[in-house]
Amino acid sequence: MSKIYDVIVLGAGPAGLTAGLYAGRSRLSTLIIEKGQDGGQIAITNEIENYPGQILEGESGPSLIARMTAQAEKFGVERARDSIKSVELEGEVKKLTGTKGEYLAKTVILATGAFPRPIGCRNEGEYVGKGISFCATCDAAFFEELEVYVVGGGDAAVEEAMYLTKFARKVTIIHRRDELRAAKSIQEKAFANPKIDFLWNTVVEEVGGEEVLSKMVVKNTKTGELTTIEADEDDGLFGLFGFIGLLPNTKLFEGMIDMENGYVKTDDNMHTNIPGVYAAGDLRVKSLRQVVTAAADGAIAAMQAEHYIANLK
Ligand SMILES: Cc1cc2nc3c(=O)[nH]c(=O)nc-3n(C[C@H](O)[C@H](O)[C@H](O)COP(=O)(O)OP(=O)(O)OC[C@H]3O[C@@H](n4cnc5c(N)ncnc54)[C@H](O)[C@@H]3O)c2cc1C
Repeated sequence: MSKIYDVIVLGAGPAGLTAGLYAGRSRLSTLIIEKGQDGGQIAITNEIENYPGQILEGESGPSLIARMTAQAEKFGVERARDSIKSVELEGEVKKLTGTKGEYLAKTVILATGAFPRPIGCRNEGEYVGKGISFCATCDAAFFEELEVYVVGGGDAAVEEAMYLTKFARKVTIIHRRDELRAAKSIQEKAFANPKIDFLWNTVVEEVGGEEVLSKMVVKNTKTGELTTIEADEDDGLFGLFGFIGLLPNTKLFEGMIDMENGYVKTDDNMHTNIPGVYAAGDLRVKSLRQVVTAAADGAIAAMQAEHYIANLK
């Protein structure tokens, strides 16, 4: 018979690691299950400078996460490297089944995160964090006085493009259609911004460069014409930001947990619709998806799990 944990945290991104820290520190028997490397999305960013109190020179996502992991483990949190393939969340004992085994718990904190919808061009994976980014709040400052391209045409793409003009020398919006989808009021501001340019009817086909992003091939969707864009020689690189939506990691919970557009619905205390099941971080419906908000969610979820378990006794 498998051990029944007080808390199982699914996902070791900032939300899951913080939930683990708070649960472990509350002396709950806690297991964090992670299928890949700790840190989730933040593990793929080279630099991070907006997590409060974190002002170390050259701090990277992985170095911040390594400390979060050590802190959770210091409080006795157990770890499992496994990819969870199915969950049974109703009832007093919840069951998670992965490729390596079954895991049981009285409470579950879902912290499986979300991932930006990829731009969809060749070689994309090689340049994420080396010129390609999906988070202007996080990475705009690294492109101070450089050229930046933004892929997308909705509200997020245009608003983020305007934010990027505070840093970049020039921002070009690459959109596959000949008009934006963004609200008219947002469009008007963008058209009035002298730093913003547009490449209409265009998609990015391929990216390249030595170590960092310095060239890309774009295609005109009407004519099929291919054009190579190269970084200014003095710059050596340019930025390419993708804002064509996020994809939540919530397929596993479909049909069980209440969701909105694929994101898990919670109340302010991270409760889902199932007693003893909480959601924390980017997978839930919220307005700002950042490390600091993921960590806050994780802390709240763990403390709610603690109250739930105390009431079971
Ligand atoms: C390129 C980039 C740069 C960013 N830069 C910053 C920044 O500078 N500052 C900032 O505050 N925010 C930044 N963000 C946003 C930040 O990374 C996210 O808000 C944060 O990571 C969300 O944390 P999370 O724990 O909710 O989810 P995630 O980080 O997405 O972690 C979820 C974890 O769950 C695991 N998982 C999912 N499904 C399963 C399963 N079935 N079984 C086991 N494990 C599973 C995943 O492997 C992953 O490790 C950035 C995001 C990106 C993409």
